[in-house]
Amino acid sequence: MEVKYRSTRDNSKSLTASQAIIQGLSEDGGLFVPENFPKLEVSIDALAKMDYREVAYEVMKLFFSDFTEEELKYCIDHAYDSKFDTEEIAPLSLVEDSYYLELFHGKTIAFKDMALSILPYLMTTSAKKNNVKEKIIILTATSGDTGKAALAGFADVEGTGIVVFYPKGGVSKIQERQMVTQKGKNVKVVGITGNFDDAQTGVKKIFSDKEFEAELLKKGYRFSSANSINIGRLIPQIAYYVFAYTRLVKEGKVASGEPINFTVPTGNFGNILAGFYAKKIGVPVNKLICASNENKVLFDFFETGVYDRNREFILTTSPSMDILISSNLERLIYEIAGCDSNLCKELMNSLTGNGRYEVTDKMKEKCSDFVGGYATEEMVLERIHEIFDRTGYVMDTHTAVASSVYKMYAEKTGDKTTNVVVSTASPYKFTRSVMEALEGKAEDEDDFALIDRLNEISKIPIPNAVEEIRNAEILHDTVCDKEQMKEEVKKFLEK
Ligand SMILES: *Cc1c(COP(=O)(O)O)cnc(C)c1O
Repeated sequence: MEVKYRSTRDNSKSLTASQAIIQGLSEDGGLFVPENFPKLEVSIDALAKMDYREVAYEVMKLFFSDFTEEELKYCIDHAYDSKFDTEEIAPLSLVEDSYYLELFHGKTIAFKDMALSILPYLMTTSAKKNNVKEKIIILTATSGDTGKAALAGFADVEGTGIVVFYPKGGVSKIQERQMVTQKGKNVKVVGITGNFDDAQTGVKKIFSDKEFEAELLKKGYRFSSANSINIGRLIPQIAYYVFAYTRLVKEGKVASGEPINFTVPTGNFGNILAGFYAKKIGVPVNKLICASNENKVLFDFFETGVYDRNREFILTTSPSMDILISSNLERLIYEIAGCDSNLCKELMNSLTGNGRYEVTDKMKEKCSDFVGGYATEEMVLERIHEIFDRTGYVMDTHTAVASSVYKMYAEKTGDKTTNVVVSTASPYKFTRSVMEALEGKAEDEDDFALIDRLNEISKIPIPNAVEEIRNAEILHDTVCDKEQMKEEVKKFLEK
């Protein structure tokens, strides 16, 4: 069955998967969504016998239906290989009452690697399929993890270039170091004086600048996005939900067909949306528990049906979730609006204009697959500490948001359904906060001393990704105002 894509803000046109991957965002500002949801073609029991790459193929072939088997397997095999430090790619660990699906075994030790190690292959294959001759320039706003994962994925990939914008002061020291030490002839990293939403808004503005686009096309460039709005990122993420479920079946932890819950630390709503799509293609999912930090705009939305970004932006210890505009939520809004693109557009315009919108009661009812929750900073640190004390397992701050939210959910509802906490980063990526949780604040110690200390007390090996940057040279030091982002892109292309 062929699956085509249309915009959440205009139902009238449809694109193939490869066209949607190249374009990233629709011209009308909307996001591409599949016109219909296919179903898994093989049984859960058959999937349970497959490895990660094979499961990923079974999922992606449904959505990337204009790719040949050879093309898709080429992309998958090059993405999920020895870059990951474990054969399983996405292992599960049982810690007390939940399984932790560890998505941080890739090159940059955060879950963004799951999608960004395949996106460059999907993108260059898509370009070839559509006879695109221009060089593809990836523009990305990052709250910390996307940036490095995208840089690592696209560095020195023929026919591409990449510019990453991050909020200066709004990411962890390790995250920043990972980015500013990135090598590659085709990469640029820029800090902006603003927060993540400013960076994302700035990138969106460049994307919708028609004049600039025409000017660049003449010079042989075309923009695309590596942000989680690209279906080339969203769809590969469905695979690990399918994989996790089938592992539990394989190990006899759940019966084939028995529903499970997923608790997902959420920012831009991309990860959890992939879980929702997994449910739509046939994975038995009961609840998707959407875990926010103190920037709890999604919690409030699921409680009240009002999405309101007019509030203070809080810098937390889980910076990759410090987001007030969760872009991928638009795809859920489209879905619960009964695929009414006019209604979706109206609500999104209201978000742009007034910073808020309200969905109807009927739409809110259709969100029943989701439960919202949030964790305070205090809860996050306490959770890391108590779990380490009792079990020796160390989780990062983002994972701890989800773990805390699940704890509250289980206590409140008594729901005994098997739960998977989606674990999105290695504790070594956010060591300062993790060590604060474990041993109290250590203001005068540098990040690498803390890393060594964490290694000493936890015995968890220090990942390569961390050792690599310990003594690496700083290669990028540009900082610009949020109004200057377009100028920086120009400079990069003229170089
Ligand atoms: C990006 C990120 C998240 C949030 O994922 P979304 O898809 O934006 O909801 C959570 N944790 C970590 C470590 C991340 O890098």
